[in-house]
Formats: sequence, structure tokens, C-alpha cells
Amino acid sequence: MKIINSIEQLRKDVIRRKEEGDTIGFVPTMGYLHEGHLALAKQARAENDFVIMSIFVNPTQFGPAEDYEKYPRNEQRDVALAAGADVDIVFMPDVKEMYPRVGTIDITPGVQANVLCGKTRPSHFDGVLKIILKFFNIINPDRSYFGMKDAQQLAIIETFVEDFNFNTTIERVPTKREKDGLAKSSRNVRLTEQERLEAPAIYEALKRGKEIFEEKKDIQQTEDEVRKYIEANISGEIDYISFLAYPSLEPWTTGDEEAILACAVQFEQTRLIDNLLLTTKG
Ligand code: AMP
Repeated sequence: MKIINSIEQLRKDVIRRKEEGDTIGFVPTMGYLHEGHLALAKQARAENDFVIMSIFVNPTQFGPAEDYEKYPRNEQRDVALAAGADVDIVFMPDVKEMYPRVGTIDITPGVQANVLCGKTRPSHFDGVLKIILKFFNIINPDRSYFGMKDAQQLAIIETFVEDFNFNTTIERVPTKREKDGLAKSSRNVRLTEQERLEAPAIYEALKRGKEIFEEKKDIQQTEDEVRKYIEANISGEIDYISFLAYPSLEPWTTGDEEAILACAVQFEQTRLIDNLLLTTKG
């Protein structure tokens, strides 16, 4: 496995691979790798000749009061895990390499960014699209791998790719969970011992909500069920609980084939998100 820090070097390697006719799978991450990231890498490995993983804590997707500085990092461990997942190149640029100038052109997503996390993180998805656009332009991947854990991000990126005709296929990867149901996340290490014990209740609440929806087909009752369970079991504060059509993220109506039941909870030091995808037609 090769570690590359410069855009120029990465471009050279990509060109060489493309000349040899290799397909390229791309896995963007912010590092502090866990089994969720590795599931993306595994799928990329199975479906492409060559796999590139980026590890970059992207400052433009963090708000001023958010956890950019405190975001967990461990490059050495990440490199070992990526090598174990048979990744071909790990791209680890520094901030200057990706953003040599500040205050340049911004990218603003549409209505999909006005709901869920977009409400409390107003410029978050601008930053996500900016870095993803840069990566797509540098790597030109055949397939790009994103986790359903960040369902809103995935929906916005699918729209971005369609709207702007990027020549890459977006692959959705299901959420990997701890044994107790908590969605794997780099941010889980920032939970206190007590919060870590409580946190699996998020998934449990979503599962209960899903059952209510399947039984009653009533959004209000579904969201209420999730809220009730989280409030009874978690000391953190609910940011949102929301049932929306997927991937449009519009209000759900009976004609929609898929929906997500999503929630975000703010704990003392960290904010966790989770969701369930539901088939809602038929
Ligand atoms: P991050 O490093 O948190 O930006 O995540 C990088 C990629 O890994 C994103 O596409 C995430 O959706 C995905 N990811 C994060 N956690 C999980 C998980 N538990 N299961 C599957 N994919 C995940």
C-alpha cells in the first residue's frame, strides 16, 4: 500500500492505472477508521481493480463551534487498518494541499440540505460537496463508496452526481453496528462511560419507530415513539427525529417507495446520528 500526500503524485498514479485499464474505487473518509469504513473499503476492493481511500479531516465541513480540533485522529493506526483492508493507495493530504487559498468558490446544495443535520449545521454540506468535488476531479473514480450511516450526505451526493453529470457511480453501503446496536462512528470514543451505555437506545428507538410505522403508517406516532424511547433512556438532548422520503428528503407521502427514520442526539462532548431505511411501498 502506498501513502500519498500530494495531489500531483496522486494524479500521476491515477493516470498510470487508467492507462492500464484498471477500474478505480474511491472511499472518502475522515480517518479514525472503524469497521464501517472498512466495509466500504471491502466492497470497493471486491468491485474494482484499484482502491483509493482518502483520510482527511475536512475543515470546511465543520462549523465554527464544532469539533474540528477535537475530532479523533490516529494516522498510524489508520494506515495499518487500510493496509489490512487491502487498499492500494491512502491519500492523506494536509489542509494546505487541499485548500491553498481560503474564501474561493462555494458550492451550495439544494433543499435536501435544509432538513435533518442541515438545520443545525448550516454550511456543513457545502463543505462536504466542496471536498468531494475536489476528490472526484483529482481521482476520477469509476465507483465511489458512501455509508448509509450518513444518509443525508449520501442523498445529497447522489443528487450532486446526477445534477452535474459526474462520471462515477455512487455505491450505498449499509451501516455497520456494534454488537449492542450502536452505529459505529469515529465520534463514539468521545462519549462518557455512562453515555456509551445509553447510546444503543438510539437504534432501539428507531427499530421501535419502524415497527409503529409498519403497523400504523402514521408519521407522527412513529416519531413520537422514537422520541419517547430516547427521552426515557438517554441523558443527551434530541436534536431531531424525522421521517422523510428517501432520497428526496421531502415530506413522505404514500406513493414514496423508500423513507428514512432518522435522528440526532447531542451528548455532552459529541453528537451522534443514526437512521433506518424503510421500504414503504406495497
Ligand atoms: P467519516 O469518516 O465519518 O466521514 O465517514 C466516511 C464514510 O464512512 C462515509 O461514507 C460514512 O457514511 C461511512 N461510515 C461511517 N460510519 C459508518 C458505519 N457505521 N457503517 C457504514 N459506513 C459508515
